[in-house]
Amino acid sequence: MDAISYQRATDVDAAIRAVNQPGAAFIGGGTNLLDLMKGGVAHPVTLIDITRIDALSRIDTLADGGLRIGALVRNSDAANHPLVRTRYPLLTQALLSGASAQLRNMATVGGNLMQRTRCGYFYDTAFPACNKRAPGSGCAALDGHNRMHAILGASRQCVAVNPSDMSVALAALDATVQVRGPQRARTIAFAQFHRLPGDRPDLDTTLAPGELITSVDLPPPAFSEHAHYLKIRDRASYAFALVSVAAALQMDGARVTAARIALGGVAHRPWRATIAEQQLAGQPLREATLRAAAQAALADARPLHGNAFKIPLAQRAIVRSVLLAAGQTGDFA
Ligand code: SF4
Repeated sequence: MDAISYQRATDVDAAIRAVNQPGAAFIGGGTNLLDLMKGGVAHPVTLIDITRIDALSRIDTLADGGLRIGALVRNSDAANHPLVRTRYPLLTQALLSGASAQLRNMATVGGNLMQRTRCGYFYDTAFPACNKRAPGSGCAALDGHNRMHAILGASRQCVAVNPSDMSVALAALDATVQVRGPQRARTIAFAQFHRLPGDRPDLDTTLAPGELITSVDLPPPAFSEHAHYLKIRDRASYAFALVSVAAALQMDGARVTAARIALGGVAHRPWRATIAEQQLAGQPLREATLRAAAQAALADARPLHGNAFKIPLAQRAIVRSVLLAAGQTGDFA
């Protein structure tokens, strides 16, 4: 492990000033960064500990009826907060499906947004080819083991997927990310926060250098009643998603009046299935309509040699999660 220096910041301004030096990085719960450091993937020179910034550890209601979740709120605290459980059950379900109880007790909301892909080639420095870890070196996953990798939005530079469950729910809920930088504060729409790989797979997000996530803001709750997060994985716990679906509906009797659907485990960022949402809106929840919407959601999928199974899996997961969100059994008779 490299030698590092350590500084503790007690307010946002001090943290932003402190990170403005070569090789400095923020550390919160450290559940991903420390793994990356121990594996020789990340090499910060100075760690700026932000965990004592009390202002970022709060959950507050917003004037418009929404909710502000501070960046340092632990995943378990966010999941179990009464206002999150009752108003944003989709977020609670997604958070509780991620990692393990011990990790959720350490990991922060801001850190969850920043966690890096779990592509094995990215973490194993014995493989020289990884454009995300070493830009220009190639992508070992293209011809290697790519069962877990992307089927949507990938490039020849990188086919990795975003591993976060929380982010899939936040994408469906149209959250925003509040950030502060050296010059200004700004709001990033959730759909704009994570990037597709393109020709810069080393960049996971649209954060500018020196910017600090201060909170995630949720709009007023509109999908409390009909929501379901479905995670398909190789084991029942402590495994990343092969495919996940965050589904939230507004219903008028048997008719869907509005739908929000986001997919995880399929792309470099949480993937909003806007075409499927549009196809469901205004329609009775019938089998043919739902299956057609699920097919449309995957119309642009381009599988690799090891993960073609993800296309029908994702289609079925959409059908099942939407039915469960609607309060049905999850399968058509
Ligand atoms: Fe690296 Fe991305 Fe290729 Fe994985 S998929 S080896 S993270 S470039």
